[in-house]
Amino acid sequence: MIGQGDVISYLEMCKEQGVNLQRGMNFHLRGGLSVILMSVRPGAPYADRIESDGKVLVYEGHDVAASPEGPNPKTVDQPMYTPGGALTQNGLFFAAAKSVQRCTTTAPEIVKVYEKIKAGVWVYNGLFRLVDAWQEVSNARLVFKFRLELDKEQPAQSGQAALDIDHTRLIPSSVKLAAWKRDKGKCVLCGSQDNLHFDHIIPYSKGGSSLVSENIQLLCARHNLRKHDKIE
Ligand SMILES: [Zn+2]
Repeated sequence: MIGQGDVISYLEMCKEQGVNLQRGMNFHLRGGLSVILMSVRPGAPYADRIESDGKVLVYEGHDVAASPEGPNPKTVDQPMYTPGGALTQNGLFFAAAKSVQRCTTTAPEIVKVYEKIKAGVWVYNGLFRLVDAWQEVSNARLVFKFRLELDKEQPAQSGQAALDIDHTRLIPSSVKLAAWKRDKGKCVLCGSQDNLHFDHIIPYSKGGSSLVSENIQLLCARHNLRKHDKIE
């Protein structure tokens, strides 16, 4: 079971989802939860961003598929519909966000979010609720934007109590990357490169910051669980 802040490879991510993830947006992946892949690295194809001290993710919709004879996908509006008239992934997520706003009894779509922090290195950012969607002009074309809020309860990792939203925040991508580089992609206690997790040295719930790499370190699953046992 993957927990929020866990570092995984692309293959582990696909194994967790039971499918080869080829697309960034996956509405009701294989009939289950929706899954999105994000990246805020320089040169990332889309303008995703983390807001409100790590509780909100604003995710950009996706372009038309590139084709040899077609226009540059970055020069045309992001599509709501496929050429055949079906909703695109943009359209599916958009419709789900709008139906929540129209009807207060509709539960928001729950979305699993994975983030690429560098080549081959992904982080599970946790479960989010899809609460809003809109279109806006960006570089003279229309793009979709989706507002996702960190879900109140994240499923427990093995041996650990469920994380409450008051006890967790998304660690900004730049902070994750700085901690990864400093710790050389290894557990700071044993040097293991497997089952790594971004750990708050001082827990968020005890006033530790998510925003500075000095408070974030890499721990393997074994040392992460051992640390939580001590704190509880
Ligand atoms: Zn370790």
